[in-house]
Amino acid sequence: MTTPDRDAIAAAAPGAAEASERSNFIRDIILEDLRTNKYNGRVQTRFPPEPNGYLHIGHAKSICINFGLAAEFGGKTNLRFDDTNPEKEEQEYVDSIIADVHWLGADWEDRLFYASDYFDQLYAWAVQLIQVGKAYVCDLSAEEVRQYRGTLNEPGKDSPYRNRSIEENLALFERMRAGEFPDGSRTLRARIDMASRNLNMRDPVMYRILHAEHNRTGSKWCIYPMYDFAHGQSDSIERITHSICTLEFEDHRPLYNWFIEQLGIFPSQQIEFDRLNLTYTLLSKRRLLQLVQQGHVCGWDDPRMPTLSGIRRRGYTPESIRNFCAAIGASKTNGIIELAMLEHFVREDLNKRAARAMAVLRPVRVVIDNYPEGQVEELEAVNNPEDPSAGTRNVQFSRVLYIEQDDFREDPPKQFFRLSPGREVRLRGGYFIKCTGVMKDEKTGEVREVHCNYDPATRSGNAPDARKVKATIHWVSAEHALDAEVRLYENLFTKEDPNEAPEGQEFTANLNPGSLEVTSAKLEPSLAIAKPGDRYQFERLGYFCVDPDSKPGVLVFNRTVPLRDTWARIEKREKGK
Ligand code: ATP
Ligand code: MG
Repeated sequence: MTTPDRDAIAAAAPGAAEASERSNFIRDIILEDLRTNKYNGRVQTRFPPEPNGYLHIGHAKSICINFGLAAEFGGKTNLRFDDTNPEKEEQEYVDSIIADVHWLGADWEDRLFYASDYFDQLYAWAVQLIQVGKAYVCDLSAEEVRQYRGTLNEPGKDSPYRNRSIEENLALFERMRAGEFPDGSRTLRARIDMASRNLNMRDPVMYRILHAEHNRTGSKWCIYPMYDFAHGQSDSIERITHSICTLEFEDHRPLYNWFIEQLGIFPSQQIEFDRLNLTYTLLSKRRLLQLVQQGHVCGWDDPRMPTLSGIRRRGYTPESIRNFCAAIGASKTNGIIELAMLEHFVREDLNKRAARAMAVLRPVRVVIDNYPEGQVEELEAVNNPEDPSAGTRNVQFSRVLYIEQDDFREDPPKQFFRLSPGREVRLRGGYFIKCTGVMKDEKTGEVREVHCNYDPATRSGNAPDARKVKATIHWVSAEHALDAEVRLYENLFTKEDPNEAPEGQEFTANLNPGSLEVTSAKLEPSLAIAKPGDRYQFERLGYFCVDPDSKPGVLVFNRTVPLRDTWARIEKREKGK
């Protein structure tokens, strides 16, 4: 497994927002083009999603590179839907993509385009290529086209239709367009070289017949351009200077250039970078769609999904994603990034902006026997130690509290310094309490209530006699606590590479049955005002975000990420080597 450059991460940790300026090879190409005035000093990029699913964190990398580089050089970025495949594309996807790109902070101003806007022009260009003998109508079936194509080691064979006259080709292509032929019966192919070492150059298909409604052009067309015939020309129409895409298109670049050269149109330049891969994560719309359709998750925006709508709902911030993308940069070889690194950037950002609050996820009652019944005190708590301007709030303290089951042990193991019989601990923001005993369920033997005494002289959090405690635990006052549902998430897959399924099984065999746990939590009352989307740090536990499923009086929180920082540990271990 490859992990990203250590120096890059170290440098990214303090002020990663600026990291988009860090050098990478794409930036170097742009700098050189600016130096040689290749495009008259212009930088224009585009982000070209196909509206056949929701965007995921891999797309965020592409968005950050495209919008980040253009912005750095005073250029512009277009948002262009690559909508040439009407069978798989839907308006719902278009809408979600627009919302997600906006949310990430990218601004395409008035430059929202669709490849389908160019269908007339693309058709005219296809006719132009036929007229100069560079394209022909082929009657081979899809299967035959595959057979004639040859292999990496064997050249292809010419189609028997390759030498049709220009007139015949023009007439047939016109009839294809007019809807005279059934789906799959003919294609328009570029006439290049069936012996090319590059399979993409062996007379690739430019147009196919598909009698399908398009969500924008309706039934106007029954032939649709292939990706390779639509993409470069769309770039060219928009005068894109740097057409940045992922490495799997590297072998398509000669074809991209061939169409542009044959048509004599604006020469956009294709540059390829490495796709983002993340451990324990699948980044393929096809697979993500399967998870949704088969009900393994509750939708595209399930907080366990790596979609932008899923991680937004989970509580990730756009800033944290941009910082992550800046830190991973771009390269010419595919690798795998640790999911822990993404989480590290989420924590780092939320640490600065999330207000603190106390919540008890798995409550056990604590009764402070020497605290006056009916008395309530307001203890002052700091909202965010990282941000003094966030101020303070009051938290109610009373005789009966909830603490975390994990913070009490009747028989404490050796390294356990939290509450146990005879042991004294500090309550966050207030008093010391000492455990005097427990009350158990007669039948199950489970601890029902922990009994304690408090020391009234320790309200400041310190003892006048300077005695120390080894642990500080969080709590909420039972009488004042709010009930809430908290959804705790773990990785959606149990395998680092979710595609590595046992023989004869699918990737879904690697789904983690424990990826969602729901608890009934007790929250401090100040959280009553929390609204969907609000983010908090629940002290000692992690970052949490209010879910849109919340209703007045019934809050639902998603755990965004726990506090423990695996990535920081990995980094430390690596540094120590
Ligand atoms: P998927 O395989 O998930 O369906 P795709 O490549 O088909 O993705 P598109 O909608 O065509 O999805 O992608 C839009 C842009 O985002 C393309 O330029 C593509 O190269 C880029 N992109 C897609 N996935 C990733 C990824 N994992 N890392 C970086 N860029 C990506
Ligand atoms: Mg695609």
